[in-house]
Amino acid sequence: MNVIKTLNKNKGKTLFSFEILPPLKGKRIQSIYDAIDPLMEFNPSFINVTYHREEFVYKKREKGFLEKVSIRKRPGTVGICAAIQHKYGVITVPHLTCGGFSAEETENALIDLHFLGINDILALRGDPVKTESAFVPEPNGHTYAVELVQQIESMNEGKYLDEEIKKPEPTNFCIGVAGYPEKHYEAMNQKLDIQYLKQKIEAGASYIVTQMFFDNAKYFKFVDDCRAAAIDVPIIPGLKPLTTLKHIKFIPKTFFVDFPDDLTDQLIKCKTNEEVAEVGVAWTIKQSKELVEHKAPCIHYYTMGKSDHVKNIAKAVFG
Ligand code: FAD
Repeated sequence: MNVIKTLNKNKGKTLFSFEILPPLKGKRIQSIYDAIDPLMEFNPSFINVTYHREEFVYKKREKGFLEKVSIRKRPGTVGICAAIQHKYGVITVPHLTCGGFSAEETENALIDLHFLGINDILALRGDPVKTESAFVPEPNGHTYAVELVQQIESMNEGKYLDEEIKKPEPTNFCIGVAGYPEKHYEAMNQKLDIQYLKQKIEAGASYIVTQMFFDNAKYFKFVDDCRAAAIDVPIIPGLKPLTTLKHIKFIPKTFFVDFPDDLTDQLIKCKTNEEVAEVGVAWTIKQSKELVEHKAPCIHYYTMGKSDHVKNIAKAVFG
């Protein structure tokens, strides 16, 4: 089974899925199980695990020197996917980015996934590293997600980078890609962004997962615009419940999304995290119920590692 087969088998029904983050380096995998356990009663159709590339930090050394050091704060995406699949028997979807990988390193990562029996991937470009203003591909790496989709699809056809491999084993990856109801921040306009999205589908992606949004009208318009551009694959809405005062500040800035007026009017009155969570959870439940009414293929929740609020939402929507 994979994501697209699951979606096709359940046409007309809205499925439940969610995304988790690998724990910070040095923490136990138990924190992942603690986040997943409360959500298992809602039968997630698949669980995504994000990928976090290296960051550069400056460490203080003797005599006041600063050393630029590369660190990965949240490694472990592939291992976590294998562990979840083994423990819960649920489809896991590792995120794989162009950033930080040469094409050969990508191929090796795909071979690991194939051997582990992980047949789903969310193929992404990745954001620029924090110290750079624009995305820089690795030498012999990919510049856009479409190239990553092409590489995965080539392996599905049994074509590896080394053309001299005799009788190469084809892989069987189901590929998902990202879409942006409020436009990707670098795109000149939404129309062009959707044209590039279409290229990812033509290259072999089977479905789209959207960036979070807080106004369903934007998702419905995005779906209409994609259909008008002859993109006919499932478009899975991604939702994030706002639960802290910090979210109100960093989410619009980080994800380039707007809060609608109704939601803003309520958020502006919140003084504590608890008040934000009350507003945010109620808002996500309202959004989810409308998406179910409109027969969205699945609702994908961004847990950011905390499942208690998503559990309350799932209970109200899928319970
Ligand atoms: P692309 O599809 O490559 O698009 C990037 C930009 O380039 C867009 O503006 C697009 O319009 C433009 N473009 C695309 N193709 C072309 C072309 N051929 N020529 C010219 N322009 C082009 N990031 C992580 O690092 N780790 C994660 O785990 C992660 N998970 C995510 C999950 C979801 C559901 C979403 C929506 C995003 C996620 N991201 C993650 C963030 C993502 O990596 C960034 O949004 C990134 O900036 C763009 O990725 P993309 O795959 O959409 O890129």
